[in-house]
Amino acid sequence: MALGLYLHIPFCKAKCAYCDFASVPGRPEWFAPYTDALCAEIAGAPARFPDIPPDQLPPRTAYIGGGTPSILPIPLLERILRALQEAFPLPADAEISMEANPGTVEPDSLRRLRILGINRLSLGVQSFRDAELRLLGRVHDAEQARQAIRWARQAGFDNLNLDLIFGLPGQSLEEWKQSLEEALAFASQHISLYALSVEEGTPLAEMINGGKLPAPDDDRTADMYLWAEERLEAAGYLHYEISNWALPGYMCRHNLGTWRNEPYLGFGSAAHSHLGRRRWWNVRDPQAYIQRLQAGLSPMEGEETLTEELDMAETMILGLRLVEEGVEVERFRRRYGRTPAEAYPEILARLSAQGLIEILPERVRLTRRGRLLGNQVFARFLPD
Ligand code: SF4
Repeated sequence: MALGLYLHIPFCKAKCAYCDFASVPGRPEWFAPYTDALCAEIAGAPARFPDIPPDQLPPRTAYIGGGTPSILPIPLLERILRALQEAFPLPADAEISMEANPGTVEPDSLRRLRILGINRLSLGVQSFRDAELRLLGRVHDAEQARQAIRWARQAGFDNLNLDLIFGLPGQSLEEWKQSLEEALAFASQHISLYALSVEEGTPLAEMINGGKLPAPDDDRTADMYLWAEERLEAAGYLHYEISNWALPGYMCRHNLGTWRNEPYLGFGSAAHSHLGRRRWWNVRDPQAYIQRLQAGLSPMEGEETLTEELDMAETMILGLRLVEEGVEVERFRRRYGRTPAEAYPEILARLSAQGLIEILPERVRLTRRGRLLGNQVFARFLPD
């Protein structure tokens, strides 16, 4: 069990219409002070957490997410990566991922990121159809997405993820197929597909609530997912997590750690951390984050200590997201001193009778039907 590191860059060019993530549009004047604060938080971490079990060190994965990390000028990203390597020297085979958005990358910036040690790039393409990108309020068009993929390749990124969103208001199955087929033509090593989630308070939700856009059609969204599953499998991708597919050898190691409920340290505004049973999170507002670090204060906003019951439930919920692997019985037993069947005899029996999970000697995992009804399955494990 190795520690994962997460770094949050909260800035974006503009706020997308569906976004309720911890991100702020614009604010280039905050880039440098935010970088200072982030580097200070990272540098102080080894002293703040002297009790990280030695078997969890060194960290083997780092993930720079956002927001739009690629919006930061390269010299600032270079400082952040240097601070990270000084505080937590990463082994040569560490996976260092970064999210990037088309419209915020250039051939030269991508080359420099690769040289700085980023070895996995996740591009937020979302769609290859301009009308859909406009509806989502993305800052880029389809041609910029194609260009970003080609530039990433030329820069030497041979572990590339493309993010796509499906289930858009008014989107037809044929339109979805076009986007996914185009993504497949690029033969990226990894593909993430997310069903659009309409979050209250976003401009997209307002348009739907105001009758200006139709609500996403759940049945059609399910058809899109089922079609994508078959198409990606035929193209040689391994469906390893509900929303994630990879060519053999290219599963995202950092996210695998998250789904196995392994420990991680998060840095930056809104970043969460989880060590042992303790979980904590930083202030969400980047300005408050900067001010706290400038004043020499901790950026932590809250913390909780998980009961074994809740920790175990989270291990089930996260692990069931892993399509093939599921929750490994032996790993679960080593962690909690009992097997999933001993911890949840009635729940597992009921879910199995309903055809939602499969109970094998070495693992418990969702069935195909269970994957479509994942949230209903997960809710059963939560303590009252
Ligand atoms: S790029 Fe991502 S984080 Fe930024 S506004 Fe759009 S959806 Fe939100």
